[in-house]
Amino acid sequence: MTKTAGIQAGDSVQRFYFSEFALRGAIVRLDNSFVEALNGRDYPAPMQALVGEALAAAVLMGSNFKHAARLSLQARGNGPLGMLMAESSCEKSTAGDAHSAQKVRALARFDTQHEQAKNLQQHGASLAALLADAQLAITVESIKDSGTERYQGIVAVDAATLSGCLEHYFDRSEQLPTTMVLAAGPQCAAGLMVQKIPDSDSADGVHAVRSNDWREIEMLARSISPQELLGLAPEQVLHRLFHQHSCRVAQAQPVVFSCTCSAERTGQALMQIDPREISSILSEDGEIVMDCEFCSARYRFDHASIERLNASHNATRH
Ligand SMILES: [Zn+2]
Repeated sequence: MTKTAGIQAGDSVQRFYFSEFALRGAIVRLDNSFVEALNGRDYPAPMQALVGEALAAAVLMGSNFKHAARLSLQARGNGPLGMLMAESSCEKSTAGDAHSAQKVRALARFDTQHEQAKNLQQHGASLAALLADAQLAITVESIKDSGTERYQGIVAVDAATLSGCLEHYFDRSEQLPTTMVLAAGPQCAAGLMVQKIPDSDSADGVHAVRSNDWREIEMLARSISPQELLGLAPEQVLHRLFHQHSCRVAQAQPVVFSCTCSAERTGQALMQIDPREISSILSEDGEIVMDCEFCSARYRFDHASIERLNASHNATRH
């Protein structure tokens, strides 16, 4: 039987726990947040689906953190999809404040001149064709009172699907057997993750999971089709898959599209550019215009604001 607590459909992620053994899971569905993260871009369908899958995966992985944290998935390769990035962040502990939303944003760069680009538009493409010879970097910034801890794991994009690559990552880098199912349609993305609970986090009285139990749960999780994952409410998916097991479902955590860009951060990025180049643009155009690639917010810097940036940049350097 599956106990449900305030399950919501759309733009939320829900963690769940198996009562019998040390397994945890999460199920996500993104509607508005996915559409908003696309930021009005007209991506070819297979690429848009991959952006949706990456966002769903970032939210599933982000739901595990007990601290404020930011997680990004970033792939760079030599295919028509030169770069893909999906990011989730949460400012507060999810354990203490279930209503603190996960914020998501995403970006993909598509090379229309790439020799494979036309094929992709017409016939769709495999992950390997989209992201040829790519590496996938998983970066976690864990924000604690004592400071920000950052770590990064890298896996080759050598599986047929993004979920397959992430399963390899959990298996090799974190030694956490994980099953992930991801799906995306034109307006919606969804995902399901089931994972062994690390020994350090396992509650007293919960049995370590035996390999045949794991195989059964893994098989059940993989039996959900993309259509079902996108079309059914989270509680229906969990009931359909795990009704013979006892599951505790945590309160839903909302997911919203939100960009972390700001005039201050954009100004800091500007200070990394050669000052001669900045002077030359300023004398030609009278201002420097920077657009955020994630949300299209526009930041303008004139002579006076560049001088202020220079002054505070020099003050922090010396
Ligand atoms: Zn932005």
